[in-house]
Amino acid sequence: MILRGAAPLFLLLASGCTVATPNADVVTNSEAVAAEQAPSPTPVPTAEPEVVEAAPAPPSAQRLDLGIAIAEAELTQGGWVRGKVPEGTQEAMLGDEVVDFDEDGRFFAAFDRDAPESLLLTAYHRSGRNISLPLAIAPRDWDIERVNVPLRPSGTSEEWWERREPEWLAINEARDRVTGAQGWRQEFIWPVTGRISGRFGRQRIYQGEPGSYHSGLDIAPGNGVPFVSPADGVVVLARTGFSLEGGIVIVDHGAGLNSAFIHLSHLSVAEGDVVKQGQQLGNVGASGRATGPHLHWSLMWKDSRLDPLLFLPPMH
Ligand SMILES: [Zn+2]
Repeated sequence: MILRGAAPLFLLLASGCTVATPNADVVTNSEAVAAEQAPSPTPVPTAEPEVVEAAPAPPSAQRLDLGIAIAEAELTQGGWVRGKVPEGTQEAMLGDEVVDFDEDGRFFAAFDRDAPESLLLTAYHRSGRNISLPLAIAPRDWDIERVNVPLRPSGTSEEWWERREPEWLAINEARDRVTGAQGWRQEFIWPVTGRISGRFGRQRIYQGEPGSYHSGLDIAPGNGVPFVSPADGVVVLARTGFSLEGGIVIVDHGAGLNSAFIHLSHLSVAEGDVVKQGQQLGNVGASGRATGPHLHWSLMWKDSRLDPLLFLPPMH
């Protein structure tokens, strides 16, 4: 399912969601609202929770306050969702991942390359109710190539890891940084346009043994071509000489979303810089382990790897 729009129109309401009471009795959304809205029978003998059994509310009252709203989304593996949790939400989760939301309840969440076909988005409300919206995540037909050669071990020697480990730690620490950047709210733009030389998710299977899949989007506009930030953010890593990545820039877009750009020939920013969408970050190169000059852009939300193409308008 693909829903996109420039304006944050709330197209879907969580009308099919269920609401759990503190007693873990599960009632439907409409019944819960009905319980709050139906006129009390006279006289009210006790405050027993039987009131949940009251007559259903009119349809117009059924969506009141308790729905999770989806504003726009790419509900597919490697995709994402923007929406709003109800007022009074204390915590929100997508599967077992925490979802950040602002004071208005607006949130961003996303789906890993290997996300399951269904994921539950849950808002934990201060009333004690849990409001859940099941999301159907369309599977992708990933480009899988089976080759009849053995999987070659990559860099397993101790000397190699001695050099690699601090780089690996620096990347992971950078991707975990919380900066309060707001780029997650924006429609992304292309960092640079050019030939797509590698798509996200492509994978080789070596005599039945799967290699790691391609974690980003490769764009090959030519060596030295400048590229820009696809959305607002804060530079959380800007280094050169990494063994695999060469020159690397990581930009945090907030809400757990971040972009890494690697194989750079030149960096235009430093760690801590606040960058705007469209601001130059550096130049395309072939540094690190690269077969030719290209920009490898990998996009992550928390631990999920995402397809940058699902964030972009058509290239022109
Ligand atoms: Zn790549």
